[in-house]
Amino acid sequence: VNRQVDFLLTGIGQLVTADPGLGTGPLGLVERAAVAAADGTVVFAGPEASLPDLPVAPGCERMDAGGRAVVPGFVDAHTHLVFAGDRADEFAARLRGFGYEQALAAGGGIHRTVRETRAASDAELERATADRLVQAGISGTTTIEVKSGYGLTVGDERRSLEVVARLAARTPIDVVPTFLGAHLIPAEFADDRKAYIDLLEQEMLPACAPLAEFVDAFCDRGALTVAESRRVLAAGRRHGLKAKIHANELGPTGGAWLAAEQGCVSADHLLFLDHAEAAALASTGTAAVLLPGTSFLLRTGHVAPIRVLRETGVTLALGTDCNPGTCYCESMQLVIALACIHGGLTPEEALLAATSGAARAVGRADRAGRLTPGFACDLVVLHGRSYLDLAYHLGVNLAQIVVKRGQVVARDGVPLALLREPAEEPGG
Ligand SMILES: [Zn+2]
Repeated sequence: VNRQVDFLLTGIGQLVTADPGLGTGPLGLVERAAVAAADGTVVFAGPEASLPDLPVAPGCERMDAGGRAVVPGFVDAHTHLVFAGDRADEFAARLRGFGYEQALAAGGGIHRTVRETRAASDAELERATADRLVQAGISGTTTIEVKSGYGLTVGDERRSLEVVARLAARTPIDVVPTFLGAHLIPAEFADDRKAYIDLLEQEMLPACAPLAEFVDAFCDRGALTVAESRRVLAAGRRHGLKAKIHANELGPTGGAWLAAEQGCVSADHLLFLDHAEAAALASTGTAAVLLPGTSFLLRTGHVAPIRVLRETGVTLALGTDCNPGTCYCESMQLVIALACIHGGLTPEEALLAATSGAARAVGRADRAGRLTPGFACDLVVLHGRSYLDLAYHLGVNLAQIVVKRGQVVARDGVPLALLREPAEEPGG
């Protein structure tokens, strides 16, 4: 390597590379380790004693981890960050026994957030989304998938993705945009569902596809049918988008089969999944994005069947599902803990799912989620000496230092370089 090292982290007590070729076990663990990077890309990750004599750039960022643990930056594979308003009262009502599907049927739930998002100004929507992005960043998230889906008109879906694009230009975090015009049939189309899917296919996708990388559909009870979802995913792919799907959250509703049929990059939720469905996902290389925050907060007692997923060898990924209704949480640290405590994953499975597995689920398997030469130097220095703290030490921010592409972007919960000021007021 001829490029000069401009980032050098030594004194790592325990390094999780997520590359089994670089260390021991599935996490690729290395003790007494160092990481070096040039131009944001890892050039060395391994035992500090084996650190080669690399040319060092003037002004190189040198840090000592003081024996702490270092993990790859988290990849959040599933969020709904772009929304206005909140639904704290609805959440509280659910704690008092009122069901999620009841709220949706009564015009609350997603319908309410759609109304509030449409009513917000461009600047309000961007500011609310930016605040959540910064929360994710100070918690160690360095790559994040962000969906539209609370606009549900041509203009409002386009506007949501424009907010995502403006924020992506303001932050070093890698933002993966997903078009979710198929989040729900909006209330005004309740009596003519086909007309909404026609609109989505003929007008919304042409307007939105240039701003998105993925197309997604909420295929479940109360949302889209399998046939409707199939149309949306196929139309999205004709516009050059890769496919994802919300599947089998509220029941065994056929979404997982559709994911395999359509070759989706990921199938998300999967609380109801049998062996044959899991085997189908494994055969098409579709990642299973588990969202344990949501199933924990919905308190239905259903979790993704981890035994079946293990047996079939499906790639596991994790996401926060950050959204105003079922899981208002930006922290992948909490999601890793809940994946273990509530979802039945081991700490090693959960950490891999939150890094390399999630990178695969968002189309970044070749550059993110591992600390290995050629990959982005995205990492988190934890406060503790072991990655096990992520499952064990709850309710505090364990990210001491967050590094994105070799640059310190947050320290001790303070954002240092997570968001630049907007070039101009949007809409101005
Ligand atoms: Zn979702």
